[in-house]
Amino acid sequence: MSAPHLLAIENLTAHYGAAQALFGVDLTVDAGQTVALVGANGAGKTTLLKCIMGLMRASNGRVLLDGQKVTGSSPAKMVRSGLALTPEGREVFPDLSVAENLELGAVALKAGRREVVRRMEAVYERFGRLAERREQPAGTLSGGEQQMLAMGRALMAKPRLLLLDEPSLGLAPLITDEIFTIIHQLARSGVTILLVEQNAARALSASHKAFLMAGGRIVQQGNSDDLLVDPRLRAAFLGAA
Ligand code: ATP
Repeated sequence: MSAPHLLAIENLTAHYGAAQALFGVDLTVDAGQTVALVGANGAGKTTLLKCIMGLMRASNGRVLLDGQKVTGSSPAKMVRSGLALTPEGREVFPDLSVAENLELGAVALKAGRREVVRRMEAVYERFGRLAERREQPAGTLSGGEQQMLAMGRALMAKPRLLLLDEPSLGLAPLITDEIFTIIHQLARSGVTILLVEQNAARALSASHKAFLMAGGRIVQQGNSDDLLVDPRLRAAFLGAA
């Protein structure tokens, strides 16, 4: 029998009040993969991540981790199970220092002080710019640095699966390049990644497999290399006929 998927979403449905945002979404992520979730504004990508992370209750369907049902678990429990989210808009705490923001990423794990310090040093090794600014209030960082901080904070939980929501949003092209280099490095170091991006070309180039969302549904899926040259997808998302 083959191993269960690291993450499996089955027939997931979600609502905001009376408005339905997800309509029976199925999606899988296997260990070691980078999987892209692409789609236009309002397609439901963030809603899906929130449901996976336990930040929003699904109306129906299941979330499985290693084949075990975790639907409806709290965000803290999901972090302890090996998931971490870098939210859209970063959501760093502007008045807290870089170091204090990082520490918050380990809170749900109840790790000892020594372990927290060890993990912070690992984050500083990966993100030299954060190391230089560790005592600086997060609100004074540039957008790219805040994205690095949000990613570093998620890595403090040593996740097996990192959910990245729109990491390039609002960043200049050069900074976006830097963020994608970091995403590649994380993937090479063995972190499994579910990458939500409006920038479909970049997301497909950075991933093994991709799911395309529209109107709260998965409308296409496949190997990213195939989707990159798919005429329908190119016409809809990549600005080519
Ligand atoms: P974006 O890239 O703009 O974040 P998205 O693909 O992540 O888009 P969602 O944010 O998941 O899309 O939104 C899916 C649908 O749910 C949209 O129709 C949106 O208007 C609606 N929605 C999102 N958040 C809320 C909310 N807090 N209350 C009501 N409706 C919401």
